[in-house]
Amino acid sequence: MNSAVIITTSSEKDSSPIYKYKLLLKYQFAVQCWKANISVLKMPKEKRSVSTVLNEFVKDFSDFTTDESVLLCKYCEVSVTATKKFQVTQHLQTSKHQKKKNRSLGSKQQVLVQAISKPGSNR
Ligand SMILES: [Zn+2]
Repeated sequence: MNSAVIITTSSEKDSSPIYKYKLLLKYQFAVQCWKANISVLKMPKEKRSVSTVLNEFVKDFSDFTTDESVLLCKYCEVSVTATKKFQVTQHLQTSKHQKKKNRSLGSKQQVLVQAISKPGSNR
């Protein structure tokens, strides 16, 4: 008789919403611990080297090239000290850079126009 009572009470406990809620909390806690562990493991990977950062700038801004230690402006032919994106955009916004870029692009366009207007296809 006693054992039967224990079984019924324990099964009641299992299906009670409070018990389920406690289980859920335990589960959520476990997930949080797991996520925390993962972020700790990821930490060293997220520390990016200078060359990685510079290569990303080169990808984002075609005006630049890099020798893995400094950022070089193709148009101004100067090295730009930039470890933050805003420093790169700051250089792009300088009138000196824009003049050099426009001059460079303008001369390229002139060459292209000359090539097209050449009467090479005349027979
Ligand atoms: Zn420049």
